[in-house]
Amino acid sequence: MMGKNHVAIAIALVAANLLVFREKNLFDGWLQSLSLAFGVIVGALLPDVDADDSKVLHGSGIRQLKRLDPIVMAAGYLTKAVVYVPLGLVFRGEHRGIMHSLAGAVASGAFWWIVLLAVQGAAGGSWAAVLATGVFAGYIIHLAEDSFTRSGVAWLKPLSNKRVCGQAVTGHVSEDLVAAGFFAVAAAVYLIGKTIPQPTAVFLPLLTAGLVLVYFFMINPVLFVLRLIPRFS
Ligand SMILES: [Zn+2]
Repeated sequence: MMGKNHVAIAIALVAANLLVFREKNLFDGWLQSLSLAFGVIVGALLPDVDADDSKVLHGSGIRQLKRLDPIVMAAGYLTKAVVYVPLGLVFRGEHRGIMHSLAGAVASGAFWWIVLLAVQGAAGGSWAAVLATGVFAGYIIHLAEDSFTRSGVAWLKPLSNKRVCGQAVTGHVSEDLVAAGFFAVAAAVYLIGKTIPQPTAVFLPLLTAGLVLVYFFMINPVLFVLRLIPRFS
């Protein structure tokens, strides 16, 4: 999937959760929200450090976020050097390989958590945990999105090479269709989240994951049929 869609979808899903959390007084502060959002943007681009032409190594690719490009690129190159290259030496470095797995998500999330805690220790404040959570959430959402494509994602690498694949093709109209549907999922998360009583709202991210799974099984037959139409194949 393309970087732009990765960022937009991740932001939409996290924003839906965040809005509910704020309404239920489970999350506070604009600085915290912005930290989370920035973490999500970076996290949603990080798995593709395993591709040379990836957005993260050239900035976010989003005009409105151009000012953040140097930070996004620095995060990309640092993740590539410290996480991807060593992991690639052990588990074979390839696009949609170890970086596109839960192991890659945990390794990258842990790396950034340590870096951010160290920076926070020097600079002060209490933003590192929120930012690191954003990075991890963005990363996981990226893997979920790539699972909708035909190349899929081997979530359990290196334990298993079995891939979760869908019917979408990167750069094809099917990718945009999947992306558009994700916004409907985000809207559903928000609307359902609003009706949930306050203490149980902390489980909203789990409900989000469930809805994404339901969406996966709904959209793939549609994409399959779409491919049979010559204009869209
Ligand atoms: Zn990817």
